[in-house]
Amino acid sequence: MSQPQVKNVVVIGAGVVGLTTALKIQEKGGYNVTIVAETFPTDPKTIKYTSHWAGAHHVSAAAHDDLRQQKLERETFDVMWELSAPGGEAEGCFLRAPQTEYYLVPQANPDFLSFSPDFKHLPPADYQHLPNVVSAISLTTLGINTPVYLPYLLARFLARGGVTVRASLQHINQVLEGGVEALTGARAGTRAVDALVVCAGIGARALGGVEDKDVHPVRGQTVLLRAPWIKSGKSLVGETGSQTYIIPRRSGNIIVGGTRVPDDWYPVPRPETTLDILSRGLALCPELAPPTVRAERAPTVDDLKPLIIEEGCGLRPGRKGGIRLEAEWFALPEAGGRKVPVVHNYGHGGYGFQTSWGSASVALEILEKELSQSK
Ligand SMILES: Cc1cc2nc3c(=O)[nH]c(=O)nc-3n(C[C@H](O)[C@H](O)[C@H](O)COP(=O)(O)OP(=O)(O)OC[C@H]3O[C@@H](n4cnc5c(N)ncnc54)[C@H](O)[C@@H]3O)c2cc1C
Repeated sequence: MSQPQVKNVVVIGAGVVGLTTALKIQEKGGYNVTIVAETFPTDPKTIKYTSHWAGAHHVSAAAHDDLRQQKLERETFDVMWELSAPGGEAEGCFLRAPQTEYYLVPQANPDFLSFSPDFKHLPPADYQHLPNVVSAISLTTLGINTPVYLPYLLARFLARGGVTVRASLQHINQVLEGGVEALTGARAGTRAVDALVVCAGIGARALGGVEDKDVHPVRGQTVLLRAPWIKSGKSLVGETGSQTYIIPRRSGNIIVGGTRVPDDWYPVPRPETTLDILSRGLALCPELAPPTVRAERAPTVDDLKPLIIEEGCGLRPGRKGGIRLEAEWFALPEAGGRKVPVVHNYGHGGYGFQTSWGSASVALEILEKELSQSK
């Protein structure tokens, strides 16, 4: 009996989206998966790799009428909740923690987070100390310890036989025509690529063959503090999403954010923005200051400065129209006109962690559908 042929799939990108997509395809079975990327999780942080800079937490941000994104976020929550279970496979990558959302604008669907454990609406007495807040909810959700979670995804991929190749691609044809061997100096074309998946994040704007000008940066700046006494998260949410937020990580480090500025490419933190973030963070969560200080007097921003581990900024890969999840076929004239499907999975904006497993599932579905059609 003939065995089904194993297909060679190349994923471009080793951020949270590329790693999760590569795993999803690999774990389906029937595929050899190779990740090609310029930057990997354990590399020094760079503005070209957004996943290093995320908070990150899972608090759904989809618009009330954006059913696709709600579905992606919901599926991702279910996967991460299981991974984070006590004794679960990746418990150490997550902190299950109480979260309070303070809204500055009325919510079109105030119950849309009601799938979250311990969801409840808070009475005005719980938020009237915060100016302009019109309502508030609390729930239990996941803080993702990104410096641990990203290497976990990579380790899981490698342990199941995945291959990685470091390369900065100018054009997707550099992989499509000669396979990954063309990048490694080995004899090119010995293992033809059956399909390519593009998870290049903000890189999709410049990558030849994709060059998607709907992709643009939405810059976010944060401050990482050492404050292990903080065990719950808080966000102040305005018209365009969370304006100020506190995300505790399992390590005892706390992300305080943030900013959300479209088309701002500035690659390093601005000192005046750091001060503004700390001052907003302290107003939302005075408990950021050390308990010894708070026992004696009202804390100030100066009390937070000694707690700073790092100031950071990243470019969220925003995209007009949202995440691109679709396929197109590329003909290779130099390879006898052979056609290869290219599946796109990029443009995750400020929600790449919390949509990662859901969008990887959709990318896998598209991949299998395309591969089942010979062109
Ligand atoms: C301050 C901040 C806070 C955030 N908080 C959250 C949060 O709480 N929850 C949440 O869900 N999301 C959050 N996000 C958003 C999240 O970080 C992004 O959506 C996510 O990291 C995007 O992942 P990605 O894999 O698409 O891109 P990246 O992480 O940027 O990865 C892109 C990959 O593609 C590779 N690549 C690109 N171009 C090329 C090329 N030409 N050749 C070779 N390789 C290439 C890169 O090397 C890299 O490996 C936050 C973002 C910021 C900045």
